[in-house]
Order: sequence, then C-alpha cells, then structure tokens
Amino acid sequence: MRLSRYFLPILREVPKEAEIVSHRLMLRAGMIRQESAGIYAWLPFGHRVLNKVCNIIREEQNRAGAIELLMPTIQSADLWRESGRYDDYGKEMLRIKDRHDRDMLFGPTNEEMITEIVRAYVKSYKSLPLNLYHIQWKFRDEVRPRFGVYRSREFLMKDAYSFDLDAAGARHSYNKMFVAYLRTFARMGLRVIPMVADTGPIGGNLSHEFIILASTGESEVFCHGDYLEMAPPPPDVNFDDAAGLQAVFDRWTALYAATSEKHDEAAFNAIPEGRRMAARGIEVGHIFYFGTKYSEPFGARVQGPDGAEHTLHMGSYGIGPSRLVAAMIEASHDEAGIIWPDAVAPFQVGILNLKAGDSATEAACGALYAELTAAGYDVLYDDTEERAGAKFATADLIGLPWQILVGPKSLAEGKVELKRRVDGSRELIAPGDILERLK
Ligand code: ATP
Ligand code: MG
Ligand code: MG
Ligand code: MG
Repeated sequence: MRLSRYFLPILREVPKEAEIVSHRLMLRAGMIRQESAGIYAWLPFGHRVLNKVCNIIREEQNRAGAIELLMPTIQSADLWRESGRYDDYGKEMLRIKDRHDRDMLFGPTNEEMITEIVRAYVKSYKSLPLNLYHIQWKFRDEVRPRFGVYRSREFLMKDAYSFDLDAAGARHSYNKMFVAYLRTFARMGLRVIPMVADTGPIGGNLSHEFIILASTGESEVFCHGDYLEMAPPPPDVNFDDAAGLQAVFDRWTALYAATSEKHDEAAFNAIPEGRRMAARGIEVGHIFYFGTKYSEPFGARVQGPDGAEHTLHMGSYGIGPSRLVAAMIEASHDEAGIIWPDAVAPFQVGILNLKAGDSATEAACGALYAELTAAGYDVLYDDTEERAGAKFATADLIGLPWQILVGPKSLAEGKVELKRRVDGSRELIAPGDILERLK
C-alpha cells in the first residue's frame, strides 16, 4: 500500500478524552473513530489489525475442531423468554421493537440462539461432540463505556458453544477451548493467565477468565508469579486426546490464580512471598461450562447409545477481538507509539523515502516495494511529501515492525537502513539483501 493513496488519518495532538494509552494511540494512529458513546468505526488501519486478530482466533478454533457459522445480531425476545433471561438480563440489553410491534433485541451473547439451532437439527449422540462458533458484533449497553474499544457498547466477540452427551464429554470440550485459548493469545505475543472466575449472568459452575496483566486493567487479580514463565502448548497438541488435554489443563491450573470475585486470601498467602502477585488485569477471554442450563428449558435432547433421551451438556467460550486490539497496545508500546507483535502487525514492513522528489531514492523504494509485495509481505510505502522526521514519527506511532529507511546518502553507497521497531536497532544493508534478512 502506498501511503499517498491510503486512508490513515494520523492525529498529531494527544486526544484529551482518552484516559488510557491504548485509547490515545488508537485515536492518534487513525485506527478508530467514535460515532456515538461506546460505538466505534474501525478505520482501515485498525480494521487490518482486527482482521489479523480474528484470523488467529479462527485458525486456533478450527484447529481445536470448532466449526464456524454466522448468526444474526438481531434476535427475537421470544428466544430469551424461553430461557428466562429476557427479564433477568437487565439494562445491558438493547431492546428494540420492529414495525409489527414485536420485541426484538441486539444480541449481547448467543446461548439461546445456538441452542435453538442445535435443537432443530441434532437428534442423535452420533452428531456429537459439536462445537459451533461465530465472530459477530454484540451490543451491551454498558453503564460506563470507556477506554475506547476496551469497554465499548458495540464490540466484536468470538463466541463458541459446545454440545456433548454428558458431563465427561463436556469436560473434554471445555479443555479443548482452554488449550486453544492458551495458543491463541500466545500467538498474539500476549502472556495470558487463566484464572478461576465467576460465571455471572451466563451461569454454571466451571469457569475461567483469561487475563492479561496491565496496570490499566479493570479487574483486580491475584496469582502465582510462575505463570509468567509458562510456555504455551505446541501447535501439534492432540485435541482428541482427552487425558492429554486434561494434563495441560491441570498444569495450567495447579498454581493459584483468581479474580477478586473468587479470591481466597488463605490460598494466596500460601504462595511464597516473592512469587505472590496482586495486580490489575484485562479480561480478554472467558470460558464456561454450564451443563443443561439452556438445553433443559429448550428441550435440546438427543438419543444416546443406550436408546434413551439425554439432555445436552453445554459450554460457551468468548473472546473479545476488539478489546484484544486495545489490550495488545496496553501490553506493547513506548513513548513513540505502538509496538505490534509481528503476528498482528497491520503491515509487516514500512518503506520510508526520506527525500521526496529524489529520483534515486524513489527508484530504490519502488523496486523494494515491488519485490517485498511480490514476496507476500504487507508493505506500507511512505511515498508522501512529508519531511523525514515526520515519516519516522508516523512509522513509530503506527508501530511498523520493520522499517526500511531509504535516504540519498546511504543509497549513494549502495545501502539502505533497516530499523527494528521493537528495540530501535538499525543496520546498513544492501537493498538486495533485505528479503533474505526479513526471513
Ligand atoms: P467484563 O467483565 O469486562 O464486562 P464480561 O465478563 O461481561 O466482560 P463476557 O460475557 O465474559 O464479558 O464476554 C466474553 C468476552 O467479550 C470478554 O472476555 C471480553 O473480551 C469481551 N467483552 C465483553 N464486554 C465487552 C465490552 N463492553 N467491550 C469490549 N469487549 C467486551
Ligand atoms: Mg460485562
Ligand atoms: Mg467479566
Ligand atoms: Mg466474562
């Protein structure tokens, strides 16, 4: 992408309304724009990151055997009357009437709808286990939307729903998602700790929140410091091996880790003092096992191998991709701007022509741009008329992981500069060697 033809509305001033760094940087880097309280447009640069995040989530859901579908944002109130949650959900639910005066709502979550779908088609244990997910906009009329897309009213959620014949099967399904989540967040360069959590309005009795430690986090959390050194499960983890997955789960839950709602002071104090961490955290994912809470009122039953009818055992598994974008910035930035982990960087490489109008630098930039693009890299080529200083500032603000600085002086010696955003290190390199160096 040539910057002169892109839409990247950079703000040079620090927006006053933004209280936390991720919100400030997302506004300054032209990623999002607030359209009304807690409702954001994703501008092209932000949209690219959001898509990358969603694709990692999707790959790991698929790897764990979950199947993607897409359910609507607007739901019928009748569905929620069947579970009894229409009245319980309260003011966070945006209630709407259609022209025929029917009660509708903008979905805050999809347990009811997915149970209705599965009830309609799944009649035998032979169709199980089943895990269906979608990545769809949700609306929750938060009392206090704030921090940009961290706590917005409209937000993106990946929500998966598992269906099993019995509690043991449901446990295996839960562990699949537990392991998939550890992998998903690790691929985004995040250190995430699974913590024993409250189930809230979703219900059930087994639940973990996936938390990133950050001083701006809204949750108060308590955990063992060794979590920060644990390595995530490898890509070839066998999701069909129930015992193997249980072992991973056991290892990741052996140490103390809980949110304030589930905090046990005595257990926490049993951790050796130097390893005790009381911190703030950001909830980026949340998984639940709730048995027959929805399948029972919906009559979602299948015939088992014994010929008898069994009520399905369910779990649900949420990740907030839009919140994750903010959380990643909270976890990885410096004074100059965002530092994207390579896996989610909206462009992997920037090319900066340090002297606009110079035919030699222009030719060198054009050739590099063509070569890297052909090799499959996402490249942002700053071909604008801006001064070199402004181009450096933009590239660092928007966090391009690799930056190729093309100026007349070094080019005369057959070299360009390759800069690594994460540590600011620079090396002189022949343009012809760049591709090899990036690998
Ligand atoms: P919170 O405690 O932050 O209000 P929640 O517990 O209500 O979140 P869940 O119902 O567990 O949220 O939803 C699953 C995931 O959706 C959360 O882990 C989070 O990543 C994301 N999420 C929930 N509410 C919001 C929001 N208002 N804005 C952005 N993401 C959200
Ligand atoms: Mg909430
Ligand atoms: Mg929560
Ligand atoms: Mg939650």
